[in-house]
Amino acid sequence: MSKKTLAIELSKIKRFDGPKDELEQHITEPDIAAQALWAAHMNGLIKEKTIVDLGAGTGVLGIGCLLLGAKKVIFVEKDLEAISVLEENLLRIKEDYEEIGETEIITKDVTVLGRVQADLVVQNPPFGTRNAHIDKAFLEKAMEISDVIITMHKTETDQFIRNLFESNNFKVLQADKVFFPLRMTLKHHRKKTEHIRVTCWYARRNS
Ligand code: SAH
Repeated sequence: MSKKTLAIELSKIKRFDGPKDELEQHITEPDIAAQALWAAHMNGLIKEKTIVDLGAGTGVLGIGCLLLGAKKVIFVEKDLEAISVLEENLLRIKEDYEEIGETEIITKDVTVLGRVQADLVVQNPPFGTRNAHIDKAFLEKAMEISDVIITMHKTETDQFIRNLFESNNFKVLQADKVFFPLRMTLKHHRKKTEHIRVTCWYARRNS
């Protein structure tokens, strides 16, 4: 699988049917998802690994991991409508790629998720715009689950996120700035496409 093929495959992922404002449902654009996952793949973080996708939505990040050879991906999402699109996406990808790894869907609020362990957490969580501090709750849960994390947050929270990693004994390996188009998805946005600055973080627990 090349990076280009990955981006093309991810562009076929079905998006949220009626994205819910209160859950901050914003898909990671396929090219951004492909970029983020490819960097992880090149560092050996995906192939043969067990990976958790927190706030999985319609599955673009976790499905990208499956296409890059993950052994198993656990999708955690609380919204049933998003999960039904995710299931559709998983069915299609399993038809197209017979060798794909194992999948599991956990229908749960991330903040009350029980004990789960994985080699890697990938997440583009809600940014905390509608539900204050949910971004922090997702990141804290991610650090419970895994020693390696790829996570996306609004660039304006960079200092806060860096401090959170460091105070939990995690080292930031890389922090890439990306532009996130919020495409007409959220009702209260007046402009058709609004860009927000997002940082994609790669971090690992200090050994
Ligand atoms: N990871 C997906 C979706 C990002 S949008 C992608 O990259 O495209 C954030 C997702 O988190 C939404 O699907 C939303 O329903 C989900 N979400 C929000 N709060 C949640 C919570 N407390 N527990 C579980 N999922 C949550």
